[in-house]
Amino acid sequence: MKVGVLCIGDELLKGAVINTNLGHMGAKLLEAGIYPQMALEVPDRSEDVIRALKILMKETDFVLVSGGLGPTSDDLTKPAVAEFLGRKLFRSEEAVKAITERWASMKRGELPLHFLSQADIPEGAELIPNHYGTAPGIFLQLGEKDPFPGKRIAMMPGPPSELNPMFDLQVLPLVKNALDGKLFSFLFHIAGVGESRVEERMQKIIAAFPALSVAYCAAPEFVKLFITSANAETIQKASGMIRREFEKELLSDETKSVAEEVLLLLKEKAFTLSLAESCTGGLISQLVTNVPGASEVYSGGIVCYSNEVKNRLLCVEETILREHGAVSSQCAGAMLEGLKKAFGSTCGISVTGIAGPGGGTPEKPVGLVYIGVFCGENSHVGRYLFRGSREQVRARSAAVALNTLRCMLKGYDLSCAGSIAFTCPRS
Ligand code: ATP
Ligand code: MG
Repeated sequence: MKVGVLCIGDELLKGAVINTNLGHMGAKLLEAGIYPQMALEVPDRSEDVIRALKILMKETDFVLVSGGLGPTSDDLTKPAVAEFLGRKLFRSEEAVKAITERWASMKRGELPLHFLSQADIPEGAELIPNHYGTAPGIFLQLGEKDPFPGKRIAMMPGPPSELNPMFDLQVLPLVKNALDGKLFSFLFHIAGVGESRVEERMQKIIAAFPALSVAYCAAPEFVKLFITSANAETIQKASGMIRREFEKELLSDETKSVAEEVLLLLKEKAFTLSLAESCTGGLISQLVTNVPGASEVYSGGIVCYSNEVKNRLLCVEETILREHGAVSSQCAGAMLEGLKKAFGSTCGISVTGIAGPGGGTPEKPVGLVYIGVFCGENSHVGRYLFRGSREQVRARSAAVALNTLRCMLKGYDLSCAGSIAFTCPRS
């Protein structure tokens, strides 16, 4: 079965709003082992919506529509779909009740009359309740009298706060139900290996299971690896091989980020963590505190952007700063020692580097980053040269720093921690 996506809204084409609905649905579909076949974006114009519907209904079997279900004059998805199908719109009593009740619960006074247009749905359609807004979603299974018999359309409201939960809990199950046969899938998170290297190492597994479909998605902190098959045993056996191949790089199935995995390992060992961040400017602290319950193990951090703060709060000696510079293994090492004194934590991370775009020299180019990590008695300072924009250099630094600590906590050798590092002599 092929899935198509239609996103409606002038704001998407004008670049005023980034199409996160497509991203969200695409990611969730991929996790379920389904690849969207085609996605179109059109402005709030009836004829464009109908033109796009014609293309998507021809090319795919299940069309997901985002936006234009609200009560304002630019919300024309439902009339356009009704016109395309040759069906009438009628006011659903069930939808009127749901809208009236939701409005009353918001305690905003009288319900504006035009809001009830959100209860108008094409004949024969099913309502999809909206638990986060007033406009209900709509599901249509096309019949013999329709232009594309057997095909399906699900319409969802545009605001991501409404579409995301509606898609995850109500629409995705409809898509899965519509599949010809059952699909089995599994998602792995592989940290410290680039996408192309993951692909290379997957070749023998792919060769062993010709019916296995494999997809990769690279993020700074890991590569997501999806495997899908119509056969449950294939997934089970391939998963076993993947677990052996990427033993040291795989995050556990329960965690969704390297920071989350690190925090779990710290909790297990009753360890604590502190951070000294220069070029990452608090990014690692953000990743760590994004995880609920971080306070159990995270003591705190110092954003030591200036030399003065490195010296005053982390006791990095002026001679180190003068002779080796702030971006040096000596400075990253001294920052670790300063962290131990300042926080008394069992583990710590220091990061100092040149994120760019300016500030590089031939000896110390943009992307040069020193990452120090200590874990109990063990410590390590690595020298890295990251490619990419300022944002990418910072994101990669944070990812490698956390993954290095993960490897140390696991007792792995650091060759699996991330981008090629050169271990620096400690002064
Ligand atoms: P509303 O009742 O809020 O008008 P609606 O279903 O009519 O809901 P739209 O009017 O199309 O939805 O969009 C409402 C808002 O939702 C947009 O201004 C935009 O901020 C956001 N939005 C719409 N489509 C998307 C999208 N594809 N990705 C991200 N945000 C979107
Ligand atoms: Mg709207």
